[in-house]
Amino acid sequence: MSNHLFDAFRSRMPEPVHLLMETDDGRSFSYGDMLARSSQLAHALLQLNVEPGDRVAVQVEKSPEAILLYLACVRAGAVFLPLNTAYTLTELGYFFEDAAPRVIVCDPARSADIGHMVEPSTAVVVTLDRNGRGSLMDQASRQASDFHDVERGKDDLAAILYTSGTTGRSKGAMLSHENLASNARVLVEQWRFTTDDVLIHALPIFHTHGLFVATNVILMAGASMLFEQKFDAGRIVTLLPRATALMGEPTFYVRLLQQDGLDRRAAKNIRLFVSGSAPLLAETHNAWRERTGHAILERYGMTETNMNTSNPYDGERRAGTVGFPLPGVALRIADPDSGKPLAQGQVGMIEVKGPNVFGGYWRMPEKTRAEFRADGFFITGDLGMIDADGYVHIVGRGKDLIISGGYNIYPKELESEIDALDGVLESAVIGVAHPDFGEGVTAIVVRAPASHITGAEILGAIAGRVAKYKHPKRVIFVDELPRNTMGKVQKNLLRDTYKDLYAS
Ligand code: AMP
Repeated sequence: MSNHLFDAFRSRMPEPVHLLMETDDGRSFSYGDMLARSSQLAHALLQLNVEPGDRVAVQVEKSPEAILLYLACVRAGAVFLPLNTAYTLTELGYFFEDAAPRVIVCDPARSADIGHMVEPSTAVVVTLDRNGRGSLMDQASRQASDFHDVERGKDDLAAILYTSGTTGRSKGAMLSHENLASNARVLVEQWRFTTDDVLIHALPIFHTHGLFVATNVILMAGASMLFEQKFDAGRIVTLLPRATALMGEPTFYVRLLQQDGLDRRAAKNIRLFVSGSAPLLAETHNAWRERTGHAILERYGMTETNMNTSNPYDGERRAGTVGFPLPGVALRIADPDSGKPLAQGQVGMIEVKGPNVFGGYWRMPEKTRAEFRADGFFITGDLGMIDADGYVHIVGRGKDLIISGGYNIYPKELESEIDALDGVLESAVIGVAHPDFGEGVTAIVVRAPASHITGAEILGAIAGRVAKYKHPKRVIFVDELPRNTMGKVQKNLLRDTYKDLYAS
């Protein structure tokens, strides 16, 4: 079996006329179109001197062209490096410096600013717009529509996805062709995807969920997708009758439940609802079953590992659990400090090993070593336990990550920004239960002596510096932060004090 991700897709490809995706602006792309256009884009990349292993950094709005570019990178042997569209120029600077991309693909509105940030001798900056003269699409339109894929070995990288760093610095998770191909194969089998399936794709494509879980599964199954620029709950309800599957993070399901049109009739052609990226409340699972007659299938994964566990397709999908380890994935619960495996039923660190698990963090060998055990298990940072029936439960996070609306936010980054402001002595950023977002980012701030800084001023100051989804929903002022004897801020106490802050 070839290890090349695109070969893996190709081996299961349906007839060229078969629909790959239809967009919300009325365009459609067949598998034949996908082959031809990704070939053209691959040629265009080679013309920009992209060599195997070179990074192609991409910050663009969601579009079919962005998917074609991802495939072109894979085919040309390059490393696809998608970046959250919300990242500010300051944030982008770090990624460009760290990843040293050969090509940076961005939206036209940003190309001048980005062009000023990078040395022309090290990186080429291009846009992806369909109509722009000189854009990558324009260059591709003059290229041949077949392409001989650049050979790749199983450990060669297909993509780097940056995770938010717990200590402020983002880490690039290096994902190989085999990591991605093996996980997509397993998911297609487990979730029974075929060429008859039509997935509603409303997830962002700079993240593992929308790019690898959703898109790779569709490509690996030769199936189709209704490709939505954004998640719009009202519109999704109208699309349901045309689809067989939906993948979303818990917020999708919470918002869909607020739509009057969501009922059994709307969902009657759907065979599978999948949730992941953050915990799905049992309450949401149950409300969904009552309204639609479907049990949402919850799965668990992360950028570094792809998908690790899934509730069963057949058999009980147990609310509040993430199901069983996927075939080929070894999962154990270990003592967080010693790494010693714990007995069934005990809570500890979730550790995983398998062809799905990434090779390490880009140019961070020490960080990589610190997150793997000597026997190759990756320390996920998630705390969990396995129940008597083998279902995996996630009970918390070792790292103090906040997940708001499906996006990961590391408090440390925001705390550094807020602490740096004049008038602020110190801050603690926590996640507080929020009915819509899952968790609401909340900043607890101690003013500097004689300072009168306001919440609005703090929010205004960080607005241009950090992505919008990370902005605190509330800023609360206190006289001092609670600390333990070691001087560590007791975030658990803060979370407890403010737990009802967003209760409706
Ligand atoms: P990301 O790398 O952005 O996909 O974030 C991965 C993290 O999201 C994991 O380490 C978990 O903390 C969390 N996560 C993903 N899926 C689930 C789930 N089904 N239940 C609870 N947490 C989840």
